[in-house]
Amino acid sequence: MSGCKKFSHTALVLKKALRFRATSRDQSAMTKPQRLLVLVGGGHAHIQVVASLPQAVKRELRCVLISDSHSAAYSGLVPAVVAGLTPEKNAYVELPVLAKHHDFLFLHARVTNVDSQSRTIRFLPNGGGAERTLRYDILSLDVGSTTAGIPTLSRNTGLRPRPVTDFKPFVIYTRPISDLMGSVSEFEAAAKSRVSTSRVVVAGGGPAGIELALALDARLKRSLRECEVTLVSRNESFADSFGRAAGNAAIAELKRRGVRLLLGVGVKVIDEKGGRLLLEDDGPEVDFDCLVVATGAAPHGWLSKATDLPLHHGWVVVGTDLRVKGTTNVFAAGDCVSFGATFREDFPPKAGVYAVREGPVLCHNISTMVEGREPHAMKHFKPQKSFLSLLSTGDGRGIGSKYGLVFTGTWVYRLKNYIDEAWQDKFRVPKNSELSDRGVDEEFDGTAAEGAAILHAAEDVLTGDSFELQLSVLKRMDRDEGFREKLVSVKIQDT
Ligand SMILES: Cc1cc2nc3c(=O)[nH]c(=O)nc-3n(C[C@H](O)[C@H](O)[C@H](O)COP(=O)(O)OP(=O)(O)OC[C@H]3O[C@@H](n4cnc5c(N)ncnc54)[C@H](O)[C@@H]3O)c2cc1C
Repeated sequence: MSGCKKFSHTALVLKKALRFRATSRDQSAMTKPQRLLVLVGGGHAHIQVVASLPQAVKRELRCVLISDSHSAAYSGLVPAVVAGLTPEKNAYVELPVLAKHHDFLFLHARVTNVDSQSRTIRFLPNGGGAERTLRYDILSLDVGSTTAGIPTLSRNTGLRPRPVTDFKPFVIYTRPISDLMGSVSEFEAAAKSRVSTSRVVVAGGGPAGIELALALDARLKRSLRECEVTLVSRNESFADSFGRAAGNAAIAELKRRGVRLLLGVGVKVIDEKGGRLLLEDDGPEVDFDCLVVATGAAPHGWLSKATDLPLHHGWVVVGTDLRVKGTTNVFAAGDCVSFGATFREDFPPKAGVYAVREGPVLCHNISTMVEGREPHAMKHFKPQKSFLSLLSTGDGRGIGSKYGLVFTGTWVYRLKNYIDEAWQDKFRVPKNSELSDRGVDEEFDGTAAEGAAILHAAEDVLTGDSFELQLSVLKRMDRDEGFREKLVSVKIQDT
């Protein structure tokens, strides 16, 4: 019954999307049929397009957002949810609500095929029913990525099965990210009644793995009788993720908290049912009750199996204007893209921060195309190499780094939380004006030595529960190169 209801909803959305009916308030549409803009995926770039596409542009279009999930998770807040520092709902944007508010139609469906020659996509409606086809005029993909897999026992040998116990081990993949938070809660609920130590293993030493190990440590040591967290990472240091100094600070924090570290060795094979994994290089077998697989991003298989788009190692190849190479009317953004040979291999990395920065470029370029402006009016995405990196340590503190400087404390977490919440607020309907209005306009006017002292002050002796003073120093560093250089050298002299 409910499946039937959902299916008829899909039909209704499709009918609306395809109805090129001019409204009386839209004179231009009476002479020109409206074109169909289809956004596939509610990723970090697309939600900005939904919220920011100018009204004048939308009048030329019928706009549809298709996602296989009703809500879009914001990765920046996920570790804080896992740590129990913020409610789960804060990490989500409700896509149907956002779409409706901005005159987009929302279709809950999984796209399975793109044919750029015939300008069609195929999709499976979420409520069930047969695959359907939709013809687009302009298409954009922001569908994220999936977790890079580790071989499981069924395909490999060399791992002795662990004796079966009453507790069924959990294996949690970090992507899709929206499933992660619920899966952690399920494990926690199942493990609460255990008398023996719960062994949690996080595989992957990238930013997600490190933050999750710290978040799980903070949460499960509170809620379970006995819990031991292990982080397995092929990287010996975390320099690739955070730079050397911040990477060392992350390792020191993990050690201080008693997280067991197995660094410099990857996972070779997992026995999912038995709750055991084997490390590479004849490393030891490690038993787990919960394994969190944070081994980085891999492209969705359907992109190579069922699209005619150009791909590089499975990622959709785009130019810096975010148009898919060889097409004029297909865009793509976020984790799912590769810039081919434009930048060095693997740059930019698969991180939400780049999808966020691509959003305004994508929105501008879709508008440019709709308005029929010259291709040179398109904007170009330039991925930044240095940005403020803020890592939540799960206990209400954080590690931050920028320009090679590392700073720690509760103010770092509060700053991170403020930035993440303010981002989410842009997509809340209605907005929380208190959050949106709170900003730091004043720039620090002290000396570089004072600025360095503020950033490195132990915890919060200077600013109580605030982070505004520290943020004003960071802002001045962004703008004033001389100040920045002096401040960085003050820090070097001091250490
Ligand atoms: C635990 C964790 C923490 C992280 N923390 C950070 C961080 O602090 N900072 C950072 O920069 N990065 C972080 N990342 C990485 C970040 O999550 C990703 O880089 C980011 O989410 C990519 O954004 P996106 O816009 O490409 O896609 P996503 O945000 O993944 O969105 C993709 C959307 O497409 C939809 N979709 C997918 N396939 C289909 C389909 N076939 N049909 C219809 N819809 C589809 C999905 O439902 C989803 O709505 C973290 C990752 C993890 C796992």
